[in-house]
Amino acid sequence: MKVVVPNKLAMKRLQETKVKRINSDQNTIIDLNDVHIGEGFFTVIAGPCALESEELAINTAKAVENAGAKIFRCSLFKPRTSPYTYQGYGIDGVKLLKLLHDETNLLLETEVLSTDHLDALAGEADILRIGSRNMDNYELLKAVGKTNKPIILKRNMSATLEEFLLAAEYILSVGNDKVILCERGIRTFENYTRNTLDILAVPALKELTHLPVIVDPSHSTGKSSLVPAASKAALAAGADGLMIEVHPDPLRSYSDGEQSIDLPTFNKLMKDLSEMANLLGKKSSTPVLS
Ligand code: PEP
Ligand code: MN
Repeated sequence: MKVVVPNKLAMKRLQETKVKRINSDQNTIIDLNDVHIGEGFFTVIAGPCALESEELAINTAKAVENAGAKIFRCSLFKPRTSPYTYQGYGIDGVKLLKLLHDETNLLLETEVLSTDHLDALAGEADILRIGSRNMDNYELLKAVGKTNKPIILKRNMSATLEEFLLAAEYILSVGNDKVILCERGIRTFENYTRNTLDILAVPALKELTHLPVIVDPSHSTGKSSLVPAASKAALAAGADGLMIEVHPDPLRSYSDGEQSIDLPTFNKLMKDLSEMANLLGKKSSTPVLS
């Protein structure tokens, strides 16, 4: 996709940044064991909202791998609105990450909620995630910036694109330029959906920055019935990939079951995305999408 670089007045605070796009051919592409994330590729990250048990982790990982996903969502720490709901498997879950590495060829990504767990998580995970609530936790951003891991940075639900990019700049500013931006929906007056997917954030971010941009169709919609449409819209808008919540039995999920798609829906979606990606001339990190 050829992008237009905005003129200097577009966002003054971005002028001196490392995240800023300098020309239309400048694209950061992250290559992890031959899985590419960035312009020209389409990469799917999938897995449950949170790891609940060894059985769920292994079964879901193998199923999404068979469907063509290359990266597994392995959240061990959950930022929940209520402190009385499931908070995640916790740091003991690092042993599940080890097991998943032994049993599958998937890359593993996990959310870092606090610097307390950073070394243990970075020791096993391939990609670290900063969730939307921590997008402006600048000390945490600098701490993950000092690791050599790719970082998925989710947009805060009330952040402008400029604020989002300046948060990414905190990571780049301390030496880590492997940042993947994730649009996950913003708060608006509409409440049928959990958030409002800001679909134009995708091409707008592509104009403003050379960093990869992916979309989370699960937290942006809050409804499993809308996840396929949001996923296809993201691909059509130029996203470099998706992060999708998938659960073998969504109604029994400990968290976010209402927005998690089941395995048959995920399989069908991967086939549809594959056809679309071919039409759009996107290469894929995944056999099913090539
Ligand atoms: C998540 O991806 O697990 C999550 C909690 O999403 P967000 O940070 O976008 O709310
Ligand atoms: Mn979730």
